[in-house]
Amino acid sequence: MAQPQRLPSLRRVAVCGGTHGNEMTGVYLAKHWLRDASELQRGTFHATPFLGNPRATEQCVRYIGRDLNRTFTDELLNSTDLATKPYEVQCAQEINKAFGPRGSSQAYDFMFDLHNTTANMGSCLFVASEHCLLPMHMCDYIQKHYTLGRCPVFLYQQPGDETLYLTSVAKASLGTLFPAFEIEAYKVVERVDFPRYSDGKISAVVHPNLQDKDFQPLKPGDPIFQTLNGEDVLYEGPDISYPAFINEAAYYEKKVAFIKMEKHTFFQPALQKF
Ligand SMILES: [Zn+2]
Repeated sequence: MAQPQRLPSLRRVAVCGGTHGNEMTGVYLAKHWLRDASELQRGTFHATPFLGNPRATEQCVRYIGRDLNRTFTDELLNSTDLATKPYEVQCAQEINKAFGPRGSSQAYDFMFDLHNTTANMGSCLFVASEHCLLPMHMCDYIQKHYTLGRCPVFLYQQPGDETLYLTSVAKASLGTLFPAFEIEAYKVVERVDFPRYSDGKISAVVHPNLQDKDFQPLKPGDPIFQTLNGEDVLYEGPDISYPAFINEAAYYEKKVAFIKMEKHTFFQPALQKF
């Protein structure tokens, strides 16, 4: 059995809604908490709600100039001459200033970022990787206390991925003792594009058998697309995989028809504060 890992106490937590201005759960919750944040507070830490992309939220669009949740790169966070840059570069820099700076000792301890998807993914939890110990413990806690169905864990970071996401601004640290556990989670292996004609235009739609089957097993030979001629395109494997973000409307521009994942069980050591 691995030794308990030690992390410093949580002092400051940030909760973001409206990173994408048309994802209304986070938008309404952030606005609700901005009126009165007392519901978020706990005896051992202070929580601060905020709207990630105020202008996109006002217009109820995902973003104005570029996807805010792909804007937290070192290059964009340090860029100057903001007048010539998309509006979201300014948002990202303001968020990094208020809750970071990323990688510094004054950064907030933890950040929640609330999203919606047009795919049939239900309630789920996003963590960069199984190595993010505190977030994985929080997933375990939430899964054990969530009564409205499954709440799968989606591990989004692939090897070599650049840091892009809003939550990267904060540190992750802690308040109490959590015992060791094993957790099942879905790890991203590949982003799958639609079949395309030679001119780059989409030539097939998501197959009706695949639609809405997020987090369900996809076996070699199962149909994944239907061409505009009505022919089935089959999943070639080699193994069972698990799809998510199937037909996500915001991912057409990212050339993602669905995301392929593997299901794994991860052991997580216990966690205690210094
Ligand atoms: Zn989103």
